[in-house]
Amino acid sequence: MNPAQQKPSPRWVDFHCHLDLYPDHEAIIAECELARVATLAVTTTPKAWQRNCELTMNSPFVRVGLGLHPQLVSEREGEVALLERYLPSARYVGEIGLDAGPRFYRSFEAQERVFTRILYACAEQGNKILSIHSVRAAAKVLVHLEKSNLLENSQAILHWFTGTVAEARRAAELGCYFSVNEEMLRSAKHRKLIGSLPLNRLLTETDGPFVQSKGTAVHPWDVHRAVHEIALLHSISDEAAASAILSNLKSLVTTGGPALR
Ligand code: MN
Repeated sequence: MNPAQQKPSPRWVDFHCHLDLYPDHEAIIAECELARVATLAVTTTPKAWQRNCELTMNSPFVRVGLGLHPQLVSEREGEVALLERYLPSARYVGEIGLDAGPRFYRSFEAQERVFTRILYACAEQGNKILSIHSVRAAAKVLVHLEKSNLLENSQAILHWFTGTVAEARRAAELGCYFSVNEEMLRSAKHRKLIGSLPLNRLLTETDGPFVQSKGTAVHPWDVHRAVHEIALLHSISDEAAASAILSNLKSLVTTGGPALR
């Protein structure tokens, strides 16, 4: 085989980014390819699923998550039926989860209905990889993960995890991964938390365009800044952190299922 025909390998991992919320969706997908960023493009509504899939059909590095964001559940609870319709064709699911912050607490019961319904459907189908939001709801998210038995045949990544050290330890024991962005690494409390997590459960993310740096939205290729901070917290070189994260991604996607499409 001609080496030039071999599949290129990724350099970076952005496991939670809203590519469809940047002004030029197609351009940012092309940039992820150029920079070789293995990117999980999460969606906030299942209505965005088909278009995201069309644009990334031949992409070596961008995968799409089928999502229904907990912050949108108050207006979009009914869309869970659409999510269930697409679910058999989705390996990646997100952004889903729970948000008990002051702005979204009122819809918390509806969020739990939607989240548990998605978890049970994923557990029934198996071989899913979920990116989960857990603002002020880490303990509840863990209870639902346990009850659904999802982790017996699927994987969960806690995105922008801000729970306690004890909750993080519990999540790691259950088999969860954590995706870490540069914004959370600006907080001393969360730096300590990330330093306490096993390196083999860490992935990086940007959560762009919601996370900003110096007044502009971060891009997937900016994820090297999170890699650098993780390296510092774990007292290893940037290269060692980057390669640990790539190998974590590899174990994540090859565990319990066929290789990435
Ligand atoms: Mn997000």
